[in-house]
Amino acid sequence: MLTRKTANLTAEEIKDWRPDRLLADGLTPLERARRRMEMSGQWAPWQAVGRRMAIGCVALEVSQRCNLDCTYCYLSESSEALRDIPIEEVFRRVDMIFAHYGAGTDIQVTGGDPTLRKRDELLAIVRYIKSKGMRASLFTNGIKATRGLLEDLCEAGLEDIAFHVDLTQERKGYRTEAELNAVRQAYIERARGLPLSVFFNTTAYPGNIHEMPAVVRFFIDNCDVVRLCSFQIGADTGRGTERARVTVNSETVIDAISQGCEAKLNFGAASAGHSACNRYAYGLVCNGRVYDFFNDPAFVHEMLAATAHLQFDRADKRRAIEAMSDFLLRNPRLLAGFASRAAKTAWRGRRDLFKARGKVGKLSFFVHNFMDACHLDRERAEACSFMVMTPQGPMSMCVHNAKRDDYLLVPAEVKTAHKVRFFNPATGKLEDEKPERITVSLTRKNARGRAREGLEARARK
Ligand code: SF4
Repeated sequence: MLTRKTANLTAEEIKDWRPDRLLADGLTPLERARRRMEMSGQWAPWQAVGRRMAIGCVALEVSQRCNLDCTYCYLSESSEALRDIPIEEVFRRVDMIFAHYGAGTDIQVTGGDPTLRKRDELLAIVRYIKSKGMRASLFTNGIKATRGLLEDLCEAGLEDIAFHVDLTQERKGYRTEAELNAVRQAYIERARGLPLSVFFNTTAYPGNIHEMPAVVRFFIDNCDVVRLCSFQIGADTGRGTERARVTVNSETVIDAISQGCEAKLNFGAASAGHSACNRYAYGLVCNGRVYDFFNDPAFVHEMLAATAHLQFDRADKRRAIEAMSDFLLRNPRLLAGFASRAAKTAWRGRRDLFKARGKVGKLSFFVHNFMDACHLDRERAEACSFMVMTPQGPMSMCVHNAKRDDYLLVPAEVKTAHKVRFFNPATGKLEDEKPERITVSLTRKNARGRAREGLEARARK
């Protein structure tokens, strides 16, 4: 994979960094994405952005509030004091995502925790994303994601659910990742049988890296429901009180995944965005043993290029298999290559196949290496594949995390039948005049993370 060293953004450059504008350059979103990867030196056979997707995904923050207080939280210290932006503004941002990246884009409906938003509004947001031909994924800590809510969200068009569970959340009564498996198991049971791809997000940090192999083992044992286990490396950003990451990086997390799998997976055959940001591997699971699906990178690259135009419906396994079979039947050379590799893997795993009566599951692994707010690499920010939709356009999540309040402490324009009014996020009220400044007052009740620590320290003096 390509990696080049470039300078970190200065404080002035971070301040001046603007959300992407819609360019009238006559290019399609995919062509524009390819140009971006080329310019940042990330255009290579493993690259999915610009080849099969215009962007990895876009975060749509529908609430800044959260019912937990993670020690690596990327949110602003102001977040808890802010009211949810009006639904009209959320829809406007969905429209902007569509205008920038087109149909098929993955939208992370996130926050804060999105389940704190009014239920009807959350359903309407998912429905609206679906109506635009994009994919909605719910990113939640799961506390309020009841079975009933998940069923309603599925009906509205939700395609993926990502549960965030780990020790950084400081859930009461759980001292180890192993103990947290009870929470993970309960969430798996809530989602079981629903037409959803189930993901788990786990923050990897010095306090839990030694437990990562066992966490991976847990996901392997539950791969009948879990499709993707995603590991985020804790970074120095946002309101979180933890900063340490020195002993944890993409390679240590990949090592821990390999230990959990008892197999070395290839994390360099396919990915999206910058190779220093994202690493991806794909395993087949049979009788509890993991087999690397990407063990032949040259063939993976060939398939990635040849199938770039195909859309696979993740919500409909049968249709996805049909689309792939149809493609392979029309491409006998690739079919032969695919069949011979499948046969070799089957031969290697014959004992497991026999014991599992031919049943094979799949599990993907993703490692996301967020940047520290004070060390933002220009090249990575320019090749970012994980954008957040601000009121003015999409922006790299890492850069956004370094200056969240610039986009939170602003009024949102709401068009009513006769005039434009202004939503004040600090009061939750619609005002006729645009407020010049939005200020929030933090108290020991609404302050979180570093802000809470500061207030408590002052109170002790
Ligand atoms: S959010 Fe940050 S770490 Fe993630 S892809 Fe973008 S620049 Fe890289």
